[in-house]
Amino acid sequence: FIIIHFTFLVITFTVLCLSVLLRRSMLERPNLYLALCNGYGALCLVWGSLIAAYSDYSSVIFSAFVYVSLCVALVTWYKPWQAILVFICNYIFYIILSVFVWPIPLSIMDRVSNAALAAILSIAISTIIYRFRARTYYSQITIRRQMDEINTINAKLQSLIHLDQLTGLYNRRFYEEALPAIVEQMLAEGRMVYGMMLDVDHFKAYNDQYGHQAGDICLRKVVDLLRANVALEPIYMVRYGGEEFFVVTAVDTPQDGFRQAEKIRRAIEDSFIEHLAHPLGRVTISIGVAACRRNGCNMDLHQITQAADKALYQAKETGRNQVIAYAD
Ligand code: GH3
Ligand code: MG
Ligand code: MG
Repeated sequence: FIIIHFTFLVITFTVLCLSVLLRRSMLERPNLYLALCNGYGALCLVWGSLIAAYSDYSSVIFSAFVYVSLCVALVTWYKPWQAILVFICNYIFYIILSVFVWPIPLSIMDRVSNAALAAILSIAISTIIYRFRARTYYSQITIRRQMDEINTINAKLQSLIHLDQLTGLYNRRFYEEALPAIVEQMLAEGRMVYGMMLDVDHFKAYNDQYGHQAGDICLRKVVDLLRANVALEPIYMVRYGGEEFFVVTAVDTPQDGFRQAEKIRRAIEDSFIEHLAHPLGRVTISIGVAACRRNGCNMDLHQITQAADKALYQAKETGRNQVIAYAD
């Protein structure tokens, strides 16, 4: 008798530990947790019936069957049909034990009716609790799914509010909200930050000659060429104004950055996008560049932009279609 109780205690302790471990991953793997819970419930019932039948036989106390049944009903996750099956089978098992194995020296009808009442009560409790738990569980799943959806939509929105519609480059908002920290981080890592301000030459005249829609198409072509001709990493390309673009990248030497800017300028010149109102007859861009390394200068993003803009102004003043580096 003591061995039976001790074994049951060990099993209970093991199941308890397992259930604590499994409960964490319950939402991902509910079946494993439920199988453990319900399997243990069934084991309790068999044990309860054995103990009840045996102790009723020896000491005439009708109790274990009732409390074990009710406890199992409280802690398991049986679906209603499972509850009916399990508690009825256990009831039959108990009656067989009480009548044939350890015949109880009391009225059999008493046993049969009391145990039936306990079994029915257990089925009712189990069903109510199952419904309640199922509802809580599905609400948790639904809430989690909705949270995932909201997070995905948020991430999409976040990326959309930082993109320019016409060109797909980053927009001015990204420049204001996100780029300062990125530049700060590059400088903190000891990298040389390189800024390039690009501006399409005689673009007003292009619009006047070909119309605003053609102007938009031209801007997209310029941006495609820009994308196709950048090799540095990381690189952030922003549509800074109408036909002005600001590019931020990290370089090892200012020469690397200058070469990159020159490559972009040449790629646009060499693509021969017609522009009859331009002295060269094709679209060109002017670029002003400025470099900054921590310890080497004290500029932040806005100051690098200003410096690149000054250099751009010079490039415009001294003939356009060229790259000019900022000099104090
Ligand atoms: P510069 O060589 O000195 O840069 O001359 P510019 O004509 O390019 O310079 P300006 O700043 O005077 O003109 C810029 C023009 O760009 C004016 C505006 O009509 C045009 N523009 C700005 N944004 C857009 C746009 O989104 N689409 C089109 N099609 N045109 C734009
Ligand atoms: Mg221009
Ligand atoms: Mg301009």
